[in-house]
Amino acid sequence: MTPSPARPVLLVTGGGRGIGAATARLAAQRGYAVAINYAHQAAAAERLAADIQAQGGQAIAVQADVSDEAQVVRLFTTVDAQLGPLRALVNNAGVVDVTTRVDNMDAARLQRMFSVNVIGSFLCAREAVRRMGTRQGERNFGPGYGQGGAIVNVSSAASRLGSPGQYVDYAASKGAIDTMTIGLAKEVADEGIRVNAVRPGVIDTEIHASGGLPDRVRDLTAGIPMQRGGTAEEVAQAILWLLSPEASYTTMALVDVAGGR
Ligand code: NAP
Repeated sequence: MTPSPARPVLLVTGGGRGIGAATARLAAQRGYAVAINYAHQAAAAERLAADIQAQGGQAIAVQADVSDEAQVVRLFTTVDAQLGPLRALVNNAGVVDVTTRVDNMDAARLQRMFSVNVIGSFLCAREAVRRMGTRQGERNFGPGYGQGGAIVNVSSAASRLGSPGQYVDYAASKGAIDTMTIGLAKEVADEGIRVNAVRPGVIDTEIHASGGLPDRVRDLTAGIPMQRGGTAEEVAQAILWLLSPEASYTTMALVDVAGGR
């Protein structure tokens, strides 16, 4: 595929399904060339990339486990080679686990949770900052790099609710994402990079079934002030605004997309 400098390049981690897929689709409609990262479900990511291309957009699907440093580096060099200089990153890949109390959690569970949700987001942010920062220095990536950009981290309302009796480890991993957003936003604010987060509430995606609670949206509806779960598209709208020039003076924001919850 020929790199297209006319389209800003966006990488969405975990972009094959759910909130990531809605974000990739909307971003393509808004003129981004989109790299759709996935871990296991190649068919979903490839189908989405093909749909975007069929509608005149530009998209590639790239497999990589974001918790693995070598795979993250390969993910970014693939985007360099196939789409060109990165201008935007959505750190969306994330996992939950089956609901349980802290006094039942073992180290293997905690390691997976923090490796994917926290270390994965840090590694991807690192690679993005290296490419987008206006202070390129000796790490210069070449023409088109160092032009600034935007990062949106997908946190969760769980970071402020704590998810007691369900997954405090997941909530704590999202707390780390909020803090990373604050610190990194300040660190790169004068290097042309804005860093923000969205904190979705209960959104209708497959993540709930992966945690053993396929009916979680329906079960929690009564406790949501707006009396409904949200859609992946509603979260994508907030993400696309934070990425856009319309949010040019917005950095370090933690935007709740949670129906009042
Ligand atoms: P989802 O439908 O389960 O999709 C998760 C995505 O993450 C998939 O594309 C999956 O790839 C990818 N992924 C998982 N582990 C990965 C890894 N190690 N490396 C690369 N990609 C990986 O989940 P979702 O509901 O859209 O959630 C997206 C984000 O929103 C997550 O960070 C989640 O914590 C957050 N969030 C969701 C909700 C909600 O209610 N749904 C609420 C708050 C926050 P494969 O397709 O290859 O498996």
